[in-house]
Amino acid sequence: MLNTQCSIIREQFPILATEVYGRPLAYLDNAATTQKPRCVVEAERDQYYTANANVHRGVHYLSQQATDLLEQARVRVASFINAPSEQEIIFTRGTTEAVNLVASSYGQLLKEGDEVIISEMEHHSNIVPWQLLRDRRGIVLKVIPFCDDGILDLNAYKALFTDRTRMVSITHVSNVLGTVNPVQEMIRVAHSHGVPVLVDAAQSVPHFRVDVQQLDCDFLAFSGHKVYGPTGIGALYGRSALLEQMPPYQGGGEMISTVSFDRTTFEDIPYKFEAGTPNYVGAHALAVALDYIDEIGLDNIADYESRLTRYATERLSAIPDLRIFGNTPGKGAVISFLVGDIHHLDMGTLLDRLGIAVRTGHHCAQLIMTHYGVEGMVRASFSFYNTEAEIDALAEGIIRVAKMLQK
Ligand code: PLP
Repeated sequence: MLNTQCSIIREQFPILATEVYGRPLAYLDNAATTQKPRCVVEAERDQYYTANANVHRGVHYLSQQATDLLEQARVRVASFINAPSEQEIIFTRGTTEAVNLVASSYGQLLKEGDEVIISEMEHHSNIVPWQLLRDRRGIVLKVIPFCDDGILDLNAYKALFTDRTRMVSITHVSNVLGTVNPVQEMIRVAHSHGVPVLVDAAQSVPHFRVDVQQLDCDFLAFSGHKVYGPTGIGALYGRSALLEQMPPYQGGGEMISTVSFDRTTFEDIPYKFEAGTPNYVGAHALAVALDYIDEIGLDNIADYESRLTRYATERLSAIPDLRIFGNTPGKGAVISFLVGDIHHLDMGTLLDRLGIAVRTGHHCAQLIMTHYGVEGMVRASFSFYNTEAEIDALAEGIIRVAKMLQK
C-alpha cells in the first residue's frame, strides 16, 4: 500500500529532493537520523511564532499555551508507547540521556558487587553509562554474547543471573545487525528473578509498534530524531513504582518543591527528573511527528520496510565478495556489510560521490566490530520513504566501487 503512496510521502520531506554531486540523493542513513516531514518543521516554526514562552512557571497566556503543548506532548508520547500514565514519561535529550538518567539515578540504589546485565550488541550509549557507574560504585557488568548470525545467546543470558543481579539493560533492535531481540521473553526471565529491565528502543520505536505494557518493561528509552521528530528531544518511560524510589538525576529549577539552604524537597514524577527549562518546542514537534507516523500507520511502515529490507538483502547478497553482518529472520531495516578487503571508509566515500548516503565506521558499537574482527562496516538503513530504485542505485554503486577498488 505504501508503495503507491511513496511519491506523495516523499513530497513531505523536501530534503529528499537534494542533488549530491549532480545525482539524486539516496538517503540510506536512517538509523543515524531520519529526515523531517514538513509538519514537524512547521510545528517548531509555528510554536516559536505563536506560542513561545517558558513553561510551568508563568501565569501569562503564552506560558500557559506553551505549557499545555508540552503536557499534551507528554500524553501523546505515553499513548504512542501505551504507557499507563503520562507521569511515567520523562522528556530527555534522547536515548543516551535516558540511559544515563537510569544508570545515574537507579544506580544510586546499587551497592558494590551488585550486577547489571547488558549485551555484546549494545550501542555505546547502553554500555558506557553502566561502566561509569561501575567506576563510581563498584558494580559488576555482565555481558550476554551473540552468535555469528546475530542472535543473542539466551541460554547464556539465563545463566548470568545471580542473587546480586539488579538490572538488565538491552537493546530492542541492534543498530548494526538489525536483530530484533526477544525482549518480551527476556523481560519475563528477568522478572522471574525480580530484576527490572531497561529497553533501548532507539531502533524499534521508528519501525514497528512498541507497547510498554505488552513488553512489561520497567524502563524504555527512545530518541525523537530517529522517529522523524527534531533533535535534542527524546523520552524515557519508567514504571512509576521505580521512578518514585529513584533520586533526582540533575538538580535545578522545575524539579523542586521547596528550597532552603538546609533542605530541598523535590517535585513529583516526572518533574523530579526534568531539571531546568525543558525542550518544550522539541517535545511538541515530537508529538506532531508521532501523529504523522500514526497517520501512515506503523503496521504499514513495518510491512513496507521489511519488504524493502528483503529486496535490499537479495540485491546485495548477489554481489560477489559482499558479506552481510546479521542474518536473523525478521531483522530490522538495516544492512551492514563489507565487500572483499575494501575499506569501509573508501566504500562510503565513493558511494557518496554517486549520491548514496550510507554510514561507515563502528556505528558506536565497537564490541560488535570486535566480535567479527573488523574495524568497521558500511551500513545502509531504510525508512518508509526509501524506494526500490534507491536500493538499485545502492547495489549498482557498490558494484561500481568494487570494480574500481578490487585487485
Ligand atoms: N541506542 C541505539 C540502538 C542507537 O542506534 C542509538 C543511536 O544510533 C542510540 C542508542 C543513541 O541515540 P541518541 O544518540 O539519539 O541518544
